[in-house]
Amino acid sequence: MDETSVETVPCRPAGVHAATSARMSRQKRKDTAPEMELRRALYRRGSRYRVNRPLEGMPRRRADVTFVGAKVVVFVDGCFWHRCPVHGTAPVNNGAWWEHKLSGNVARDRDTDTRLREAGWAVLRFWEHEDMEAAASEVERVLRERRLARGRTGRVRKPESPVRGPR
Ligand SMILES: [Zn+2]
Repeated sequence: MDETSVETVPCRPAGVHAATSARMSRQKRKDTAPEMELRRALYRRGSRYRVNRPLEGMPRRRADVTFVGAKVVVFVDGCFWHRCPVHGTAPVNNGAWWEHKLSGNVARDRDTDTRLREAGWAVLRFWEHEDMEAAASEVERVLRERRLARGRTGRVRKPESPVRGPR
């Protein structure tokens, strides 16, 4: 958080107890069920990736799934914490505090996307409510694209033979 935004931060509500507070202090929950589901789907299809990899030059920010060679990062965003247009809710109690917190999360997401893309990464984001098999297919599609575009790995690839996962 930068100095200029400090003055506008509403006080943390007194009613927020320790456990909730600890949870809120993390950017997101780790290893959520949808995220695990996506990872399993990718793994089954033969993809290998890094999990919770720190983002270079962005302290305390991590990517859920990273394909380092292809420069592809994937995030599975929680509907509440990242304000999904379908399920995102605005808590009524301590509304100003929550507004600040949640809009801060969204702004950080967009900032992360911009900085990653500027550094040459493909950024994919899925909502936790999305079908993770479909998400895995989308990830594979982007991976194929990136690998074809680079096209100098020395390995002969057959782009029209997708790896089939068990359905
Ligand atoms: Zn949602």
